[in-house]
Amino acid sequence: MRSYSGLILLPTFEERLEYLALNGVVGDETFGYDRYLNQMLYHNREFWMSIRDQVIIRDNGCDLACADREIPKGCKIIVHHIEPITVEDIYERSPKVYGLDNLVSTTLSTHNAIHYSNVKSRMPSAMVERKPNDQTPWR
Ligand SMILES: [Zn+2]
Repeated sequence: MRSYSGLILLPTFEERLEYLALNGVVGDETFGYDRYLNQMLYHNREFWMSIRDQVIIRDNGCDLACADREIPKGCKIIVHHIEPITVEDIYERSPKVYGLDNLVSTTLSTHNAIHYSNVKSRMPSAMVERKPNDQTPWR
């Protein structure tokens, strides 16, 4: 299991990115993950925003909490779930959803690299091909 405590033991941004990389095997995001996540965040929005603030403050507003990678003002900060959460995690209120040890601050481009790049081989074929119906949860 990946965790924030494990992540911060790695000194460089590249090592942290490799540690977090999901290599396109996200699964959940192609099975309605975003839809359920957004639904959850909407119903618990105030709570999520307070958790999100705590993560950003803990990470000093830095990309993957790297002290030399401060996220510029005006650049959207994304709070990423280190171990991807599932719909079950949301229903069961798993600590993976709101636990600070499963969350880290990042930027949109780093977030895309975490989810969709094959960091080890840097092969563009690792990109997930999106099809019109691939967010349909019952498929
Ligand atoms: Zn993410």
